[in-house]
Amino acid sequence: MTASTLDIITWFVYVFSAVLFVMGLHYMNSPKTARKGNFVSAAGMVVAVVMAFVHMFATKIADMTAVYVLIAGIALGTIAGVWSAVKVQMTDMPQLVSVFNTVGGGAAALVALNDILTANMSELTLVLLITAGLGVIIGAVTFTGSLIAAGKLQGVIPGKPIALPGQNLINVILIIGTLASFVMLCIHPQQRVLWSIVTVVVACVYGVLFVLPIGGADMPVVISVLNACTGTAVAMSGLAIDNVALIVAGALVGSAGVTLSILMAKAMNRPLSSVLLGGFGDAGAAGAAGDGPEGTMRETTADDVAVQLVYADKVVFVPGFGLAQAQAQRELADLGQLLEERGIEVSYAIHPVAGRMPGHMNVLLAEANVPYEQLIDLDDINPQFPSTSVSLVVGANDVTNPAARKPGTAVSGMPILDVDKSQSTVVIKRGRGRGYAGIENELYFDPHTQMLFGDAKAQLQSIIAAVKELIAD
Ligand code: NDP
Repeated sequence: MTASTLDIITWFVYVFSAVLFVMGLHYMNSPKTARKGNFVSAAGMVVAVVMAFVHMFATKIADMTAVYVLIAGIALGTIAGVWSAVKVQMTDMPQLVSVFNTVGGGAAALVALNDILTANMSELTLVLLITAGLGVIIGAVTFTGSLIAAGKLQGVIPGKPIALPGQNLINVILIIGTLASFVMLCIHPQQRVLWSIVTVVVACVYGVLFVLPIGGADMPVVISVLNACTGTAVAMSGLAIDNVALIVAGALVGSAGVTLSILMAKAMNRPLSSVLLGGFGDAGAAGAAGDGPEGTMRETTADDVAVQLVYADKVVFVPGFGLAQAQAQRELADLGQLLEERGIEVSYAIHPVAGRMPGHMNVLLAEANVPYEQLIDLDDINPQFPSTSVSLVVGANDVTNPAARKPGTAVSGMPILDVDKSQSTVVIKRGRGRGYAGIENELYFDPHTQMLFGDAKAQLQSIIAAVKELIAD
C-alpha cells in the first residue's frame, strides 16, 4: 500500500472516530442515554488509538523499539483506565476527573512540545509555532492546575483559599511572562529549546498559583475551566500534528467545557473573568471559622420524621455531597417511591454545584433509577418551597446556606435552594461538620428546622422502616 493510500484511509478512520465522539456527546444529553454515550465515545477513542498505531507501524515512522514502547503505553493506559473505573469509589470521582484533566493537559503539552523540538527548521512555520505553543501553554497550566484541584478535592491540600501577598499582581506577571516567552519562541525559533523551557516552567507555576487561591464554594467553576483548557490544549496539539481525531475530540471537550464554565459561573453568580485571574474565593477567609450563627439546633428522630413525611402533601428531597459520601441514593429513591405510592408529591431539588462535580446529583440519582422528571432544577424548585410540607435535606450544606444572601461570607452571592422557606425542614447529617466552604449553616438554627444526626444511609433506612410500619398500621 502506498503512503498516500494509507494516509487517506487513516484520515477517514479518524473522521469516523470523530463522528463517534460527536454521537457519544449527543447521547450524553440525557441521563437515560448517557451510559451509551460513554460507550460510543470510548469506542471512538479505541478506533483512533489503533489507527494511530497502525499508521506509525506501516509508515515505519516508529522503529521496533518505539513500537514496543507504544504497546507498553497502550497496555499501561488500558490497565490504569479500567482499574480506576472499576476501583475508584463514586465519592472519589471528582478527584479522578481532575486527575484525567491533569493527564490530558500534560499529554497535550508533551505532544505539542515534541512537535516544536523535533521539527526541521524548514517545517517550523509560524502557524505550527503558534498552535503547538498554545498547546504547550494551555496544557502546562491545565497539568499543574488540575493536580492542585485534585489535591484540594482529595483533602491532601487544604480546601481553603491559599493566597500569596499580591496574588493578583503575581498572576498578571506570570500571564505576561508566559505570553512573552511564547512570542520569543515564535520570533526566534532557532532558540526553541530555551524558550520552550521558559514557557513550560512559567505556565506550570501559573497553573499552581491560579488554583491555590480558589477556595470556599468556588471550586466548581475552576474545575470546569480546567476541563475546557484540557480540550483546547488537545485541539491545539491536534492542529500542530495535523491529526483530525485530536482536533475534533479536543474541540468537543473544549467547547463543552466553556459552555459548562459559563453555566457554572452563572449558577454560582460569579464573574468568569475573576476566575481566570484567580481573584475570588477570598471571602472564604472572612466567613471561615468562628463567626457563624449562634443558637440551638432542634434534634429529631427517624420515627418522628416518618410521621411528618407520611402525613405530608408535598415532599422535596434536597440531596448534597453527604448523600454521595454515604452512597444512600438507592435508599432515598426507595423512600421517594414509598411516599409516592401514598399519593404524596415527591421531587428532588438539584443545585448545580451540589456534590463535588458538575451533574453529581443527576448521576447519583439516575444510578438509583429516580425518574428524570422528578429532578427539578434550582430556578424551578425555589418557588415551590413555600408550598412544600417537608423538605428533607440529605447531606447538603453549602447549597442550602442562607448566609449566601448576605455579603462577606464564602458563599455570598451564590444562589441557594430556599429550603428555609418550606413549612418544615429536616436535615440529615452525621454531626456538626461544616460544608465544603467551611462555614456554619444558619439553616440548622432556624426554628422550622429539625436535625436528624447520623449517617445518611443508616438514617434513611430507619425512616423507611418507620414509614412502612406507619403505613401497615
Ligand atoms: P457540602 O460539602 O457543603 O456539605 C456536605 C455535608 O454532608 C457536610 O456538612 C457533612 O456534614 C454531610 N455529610 C458528609 N458525609 C455524610 C454522611 N455519610 N451522611 C450524612 N451526611 C454527611 O455539600 P453540598 O452538596 O451542600 O455543597 C457542595 C459544595 O462543594 C459547594 O460548596 C460547592 O461549591 C463545592 N464544590 C462543588 C463542586 C461541583 O462541581 N459540584 C466541585 C468542587 C466543590 P457532617 O460532616 O456533619 O456529616
